[in-house]
Amino acid sequence: MRYISTRGDAPVLNFHEALLAGLASDGGLYLPESVPQFSAAELRSFSGLSYAELATRILLPFVEPCISEAELAAMCARAYGSFSHPATAPLVQIAPNHFIAELFHGPTLAFKDFALQLLGHFMEHALCAHEKQALVLGATSGDTGSAAIAGLRGRRNLHIVILYPDGRPSSVQRKQMTTTGDANVHPLAVAGTFDDCQDLVKAMFVHPRFRDRLLAVNSINIARVLAQIVYYLSTALTLGAPDRRVSFSVPTGNFGDVYAGYLAKKMGLPIQRLMIATNANDILARCVHRGEYRMQPVSATLSPSMDIQIASNFERLLFDLMQRDGHAVAAAISQLRSSGSLTLTPAQHAVFIRDFDAHRVDDAQTITTMQQVLHDTGYLLDPHTATGVAAAHALADRSVPIITLATAHPAKFPDIVRRACRMEAPVPERLQHALNAPEHSVKLANDKAALIHYLEKL
Ligand SMILES: *Cc1c(COP(=O)(O)O)cnc(C)c1O
Repeated sequence: MRYISTRGDAPVLNFHEALLAGLASDGGLYLPESVPQFSAAELRSFSGLSYAELATRILLPFVEPCISEAELAAMCARAYGSFSHPATAPLVQIAPNHFIAELFHGPTLAFKDFALQLLGHFMEHALCAHEKQALVLGATSGDTGSAAIAGLRGRRNLHIVILYPDGRPSSVQRKQMTTTGDANVHPLAVAGTFDDCQDLVKAMFVHPRFRDRLLAVNSINIARVLAQIVYYLSTALTLGAPDRRVSFSVPTGNFGDVYAGYLAKKMGLPIQRLMIATNANDILARCVHRGEYRMQPVSATLSPSMDIQIASNFERLLFDLMQRDGHAVAAAISQLRSSGSLTLTPAQHAVFIRDFDAHRVDDAQTITTMQQVLHDTGYLLDPHTATGVAAAHALADRSVPIITLATAHPAKFPDIVRRACRMEAPVPERLQHALNAPEHSVKLANDKAALIHYLEKL
């Protein structure tokens, strides 16, 4: 597979190169030049495979020729062997036609482990092949950082530096980042918002002194998005795809997860609707409803991993909406940057809503959804998953089964669970260590020079 930039002016790369490049040299994001197709017969032949085997079948066309089938199979087996549930991404039914895909059985109890456990193996493989020393740099509003650290801790030949908005991640998320004790792990608490962290990271990726050494782990890295395609297939196959259609409701921030669902659909999975669930930071919901992508200040909510206004991966969808014209995307993004808004043409908007719905869920609804599902079924939701469940209820077309992605385990957000449901979320064993170990982190000003100074010492 070859990878091209959304802005049309960067070199075409192979998988290893795109993995290590992160952001493209023209400022765009890499995406696969074409999307492999699976026929209904092929999809049927996948049922019964283990999660790791299915991942190997789905991802092979994206990683060849850089990674062989045997190497990929070994990486998937190791990555998903670290999950604590034998089904890896099990389904739980909470209502007629409504299922929860539990994506929180990985090492940090959030869905990001699906991509980042595998990314650790991909990066090690690529760095060996290229004999490179690397600095992994990422921004997180909570879950990416801990999952990236869990995927890369202790690996030789790289340091991992993670910026997070000071005070925003839950104390559990923060402790998962600050308690590893590994010398190659550097959590930095920035005096700013998630978008500030992301801007600092982006600035380093175009900085002449660092850009050749830096690797990206946020969802601008195409490898992460690709890894997330697999659970759309595994869960849909369990419910009878390709002979039965399914819809998905996806708690959304940076648009990486739901974009993976869009790719799964393009690969041949019969997905009826992709529901974008947002919290009060609803830029994507407004764009679905009105065709205008307009930035607003970020507000803090009960689902902090979705407190994002600039959804980086939306640029990948824009590329398709703009008929894969990179220069049109570049112009649209620069207009968005200067004016704070971007208006889709009626034709682009029509293509957008052919696949996607969206629903905004405020904090009060998040809490009532957690209470209601607990009351009706005894099942405890985390606040992010609750936005997905509430949005699924708003879906007009209920004729096909809907799968809400459970993006985090409720034990990661004990304060919110206590407030909403007056109970303690049971803490899985693998979290106990992080809660009790000593923390190590560094405070950083919201300032490029301060970050440059820190990175220069590594
Ligand atoms: C990252 C995250 C999301 C948002 O996923 P995107 O790919 O950024 O849209 C939702 N829920 C949780 C718990 C997360 O960690």
